[in-house]
Amino acid sequence: MPAEFDVAIIGLGAMGSAAAAFAASRGARVIGIEAHYPAHALSSSHGDSRLIRLGYFEDPSYVPLLKRAYENWRALEARLREEILTVTGVLQIGRPDSKIVSGTLASCKMHGLTHELLDKHEMARRYPAFALDDDEIGLLDPQGGYIRPEAAIMGFLKLAAGDGAELHFGERVEAISPDADGVTVISANGRYRARKVIVATGAWIAELVPELVSKAQPIRQVVAWYQPEDGFIAQPGRMTCFLRDDGENGSFFGFPAIGADGVKIGRHAHFREPIDPTLPNPPVNDADTELLDTFARKRLPKAASHRIRATTCRYTMLPSEDFLIDFVPGNRNVVVSSACSGHGFKFTSVIGEILSDLALDGGTKLPTSLFSFERHFPKG
Ligand SMILES: Cc1cc2nc3c(=O)[nH]c(=O)nc-3n(C[C@H](O)[C@H](O)[C@H](O)COP(=O)(O)OP(=O)(O)OC[C@H]3O[C@@H](n4cnc5c(N)ncnc54)[C@H](O)[C@@H]3O)c2cc1C
Repeated sequence: MPAEFDVAIIGLGAMGSAAAAFAASRGARVIGIEAHYPAHALSSSHGDSRLIRLGYFEDPSYVPLLKRAYENWRALEARLREEILTVTGVLQIGRPDSKIVSGTLASCKMHGLTHELLDKHEMARRYPAFALDDDEIGLLDPQGGYIRPEAAIMGFLKLAAGDGAELHFGERVEAISPDADGVTVISANGRYRARKVIVATGAWIAELVPELVSKAQPIRQVVAWYQPEDGFIAQPGRMTCFLRDDGENGSFFGFPAIGADGVKIGRHAHFREPIDPTLPNPPVNDADTELLDTFARKRLPKAASHRIRATTCRYTMLPSEDFLIDFVPGNRNVVVSSACSGHGFKFTSVIGEILSDLALDGGTKLPTSLFSFERHFPKG
C-alpha cells in the first residue's frame, strides 16, 4: 500500500502538536491522531503554567537547546500574535551547595548567562512572598518565566491545521506496524499508511513502544492553587516563579498569582507514586494536600494562605530523568518522543523541531546526544 502521509504523529499533546506544526510548515503530508480532545486535562500538559529557565541545574548541556526553544517560542507567538511565554524571572532558592543553586550557577557560568546571586536579606527585600532560612541564598535567572501550556498546544495545532495537517481527535491508536518501506498505523477508526511515524504518547508511550516497557514509568503528580493573604506580594513582578530546594523535604516549584486561582505550588515528582496509565489518576487525597499545605504555610505564609483547588497530573520518568528522543533501535521509520521526567514542557518548541527533522530528514543538526536510546539503555 503506498504511503498516504509523509509522517503520522500519534499523540497531539505537547510534543506531538509541536511536531505536527513543524512538519506541516515544511510542506510535509502530516496526519496527527489524538485519543482525547485538544489540550485536554488527562495527561501531562494541563494546569495553566509551566516553568521555563535558561540556566539549567539538571545539566548545562541543555542550555543550547533552551536557547533554541526560546527563539522558537517567540516565533510561535509571532505567528499566532499571542503571548505564550511570559518572563517573570525564576528565583532558585536553597543552600549554596544544593543542586538547584550550585547546578544553576555552574550552568550560568559555563554558558556566560546573566544571573544574580542574592543573599537572604536582598531576597526578602525584593520578594517578600518567600520565608527564608538564614543559610539560604537565591539565584535569579532573569530570563526565566512561565509558558501557558494549553495555549501553546492550541497554537501548535492551529498552525499545523493551517498548513494542511490532517488532525484526528477522539481516536485512539491501537497498534503500529513498521516495515522496511514505512509504517501502518491502526486505530479503532481505520488504518493509515505513512513513511514515518512519531510516537509522542506521553504516559502511554510503552503501549506502542515495547522497548520502554518497565523503563518509562508514569507517576502521579499533584499541584495546588492558593489565594494570598496579601495579594500585593503574590503578584508577578513582586513575586517570581521559583524552584526551591527544601532539603530533605524535596524540591518544590511554584508560580506567582498569574491567574484567578492564585499561587500554584507542586513538589517535583510528588510521592513518586507509580500509576497504571490505562486507569484514571487516583484523586487528590489528604496526604497530597498536607504535603503542599505544609510547604505553603512554612515557605509562602502570606502569598499562599488558603488552598482553593488541587489537581492531579502525570510525569513519565526515565531512570536518568533526561529525555529520550530517537529512532527505535533497528527501525528508522519509528521516532520516539519521551520528554517528561517532569521538565519537558519548556523544550516543546525545540523538541517539535527535532522530531520533525528526524522524521523528514533522518537526522537533526540540533544537539540531541543526551537523548539517545544507546545513552539511556546501553547494550551489553
Ligand atoms: C504537574 C506538572 C508540572 C510540570 N511542570 C513543568 C515545568 O514547570 N516545566 C517544564 O518544562 N515541564 C514541566 N512538566 C513536564 C511537562 O509538562 C511534560 O514534559 C510535557 O507535558 C510532556 O508532553 P508530552 O507531549 O510528552 O505528553 P502529553 O502532553 O501528555 O501528550 C501525550 C498525548 O498522547 C495522547 N495519547 C496517548 N496514547 C495515545 C494513543 N494510543 N493514541 C492516540 N493518542 C494517544 C494522550 O491523550 C496525550 O494527549 C510538568 C508536568 C506536570 C505533570
